[in-house]
Amino acid sequence: MANIILIAAAGAGKGTQARLLKEKYNIAHISTGDLLRDIASSGSELGKEIAEIQKSGLLVSNELTLKILLERLEDSDCKNGFILDGYPRTLEQAKMFEEAVAGTNKEITNVIVLDVPKDMLMQRITGRLTCKACGEIYNEYFDNFVKEGTCNKCSGELFKRSDDNEEAFNKRYDLYLTVVKGAIEFYKGKGILDVVDASISKSYTFSQIEKILEDKND
Ligand code: AMP
Repeated sequence: MANIILIAAAGAGKGTQARLLKEKYNIAHISTGDLLRDIASSGSELGKEIAEIQKSGLLVSNELTLKILLERLEDSDCKNGFILDGYPRTLEQAKMFEEAVAGTNKEITNVIVLDVPKDMLMQRITGRLTCKACGEIYNEYFDNFVKEGTCNKCSGELFKRSDDNEEAFNKRYDLYLTVVKGAIEFYKGKGILDVVDASISKSYTFSQIEKILEDKND
């Protein structure tokens, strides 16, 4: 059983690693942002409230987020374990979750921090190009293109996300540092936190994560 929290700044490759983990260990990938967005798009009164909060960039209340998360953890795809993405966002959430699952098979077994130097994250984010047609992601600094501005796979048009600029990145990064710091210290104190070098390649990052999980959970 691996119940994992993945912590990483924007551009560190959290989505990619979560996908690889889900496939290899047959565990659920749970993003609280996605869970809340689903409710927001339902059009209910609660959904409208959540949509407003998400639009403003503030956090949804701890109680509501925890309730939604605990419900999701009851689904059958969580029986072998789960990866939490975007939760906890604060030290308080880390403590609340721990209390809620104490003594159950939902206790966190591993917290993995994907570490990438800030200047490299900046290059990954500001150079990111996405294909409008197939969603493939490129980097204008690192990738070669058959034809400039078009996707190598489907020839679709490549575009840059509006928040993938230097100013927005700096804001997101500063927020990441302040918000996760408390949670990181909390899990470090429990001896279940590992920091992985995620600056080399996707496969090297994943091999380190596999080793951590296999060493600890066997
Ligand atoms: P994300 O997709 O993780 O960037 O989250 C998008 C939005 O969903 C955030 O700006 C919050 O409004 C809300 N959200 C996601 N995760 C949490 C959480 N753990 N606690 C409170 N609000 C959250």
